[in-house]
Amino acid sequence: MTLRLSLEALPDSIYAAELQKDPPSSRFAAPLEAQFVRSALRNSRTIVRFACTLTVLLIALRGAEWLIADMPLPLNGMVAGVIGSSLALLWLAWSGVYERLYLPFAWVLVPLRNVLVAMQAVHAAARGEPDTLIVLPLLIIGPLYFSGLPFRGGSFAAALACAAELLAAHLFHLPPQVALRTAAFLLTTLLTCAVAAWLIERHARRSFLESQLVGELAQQDVLTWTKNRRIFDESLARLWRQATSDARALSILLMDIDYFKAYNDRYGHQAGDAALRQAAQAIQRCARRPLDLVARYGGEEFGVILYDTDRAGAHAAAEAMRRAVQELSIEHEGSRCSGVLTISVGVAVVEPTAWRNPYGALQLADEALYQAKSKGRNRVELMDDVAHRLLVTGEFSKDIIAHLKSDASAG
Ligand code: GH3
Ligand code: MG
Ligand code: MG
Repeated sequence: MTLRLSLEALPDSIYAAELQKDPPSSRFAAPLEAQFVRSALRNSRTIVRFACTLTVLLIALRGAEWLIADMPLPLNGMVAGVIGSSLALLWLAWSGVYERLYLPFAWVLVPLRNVLVAMQAVHAAARGEPDTLIVLPLLIIGPLYFSGLPFRGGSFAAALACAAELLAAHLFHLPPQVALRTAAFLLTTLLTCAVAAWLIERHARRSFLESQLVGELAQQDVLTWTKNRRIFDESLARLWRQATSDARALSILLMDIDYFKAYNDRYGHQAGDAALRQAAQAIQRCARRPLDLVARYGGEEFGVILYDTDRAGAHAAAEAMRRAVQELSIEHEGSRCSGVLTISVGVAVVEPTAWRNPYGALQLADEALYQAKSKGRNRVELMDDVAHRLLVTGEFSKDIIAHLKSDASAG
């Protein structure tokens, strides 16, 4: 699949930024590289299991061959190393620790086993068993395509096998003609297989970036690059359930840009879009904890969910966001509350329970926002304890809303 998207229009996506690179990176920056390696390892689990199982079966067959021929098993250190590393890789491939531990061990065990097998094969060939040399191409194909190692790990292990073959041929006095022919064949195999493996990885990297970008686009609002309304609604329902079972408070902040229609009228819609984007990023910078969520709630409105945040914490966060937007100092001559672009923020802090529902909390935050607007804008309003206690069903009758308003204006 080739994405036909205007990637320049997505400046905040790390995936879009990587996709624009020409030539494409053979290695991404640290956190993205780790994400790619994890995903590639997950995708290659079946092939890794297949290869590890087949290797152990081949070793067992070789052992059976020796037993049937009634020859003493050559159990030296090298053979023990090959058997041990193959069994360890087999266990890692099939166990629950695969995603966490397979790769760090494979980086050591695959090259080590490659060296040992190459030395063993040449040793046996030098002692009059030339057939054993047929195993050598597997030491190139295996690490490059079936080991689960990224290209640089697989090519390192394959190159080590070639070097080990040359060294062993010298040490064990393999006839020079055989040694030379085997080395030439191995090097040719290494080069062709490495080029193909490199192209495969380049394609895998591109597919990874494209699928991540598609996932990101499904979650993001493309103008402000905050989460979209669908993700806000889904996250609110999920965090509500989590807060209910963990008995934690949930804070919902609704914010709206002040006199934004006047801004558009004065500076134009495009400048309005740019200001909206800047305000969103300023708000986003104030919500950095893993469960904090900032979303575009509507046209020039944003919704923020803060998990496990009490009244003081929620008020401080809302005030920080209000200040951050004001400090952008975006000129706004049409504003009747300030010379620069500002936001009004309504905060609701609730303790979710099984008999309350998130829509009531949203309604509470909306009421607080309404108060912030009616009290002059560019300010934060938080729903008081009375409102909090009244949030039982999540549904507000007209009486309760009227009560809340009169309560707030009295305070
Ligand atoms: P208030 O202080 O009461 O919120 O006044 P307001 O003018 O901001 O409120 P109102 O809801 O009347 O106007 C919102 C405006 O936001 C209307 C619309 O032109 C503008 N708007 C909404 N979405 C976008 C957008 O994506 N880009 C731009 N440039 N403007 C937008
Ligand atoms: Mg509005
Ligand atoms: Mg507005």
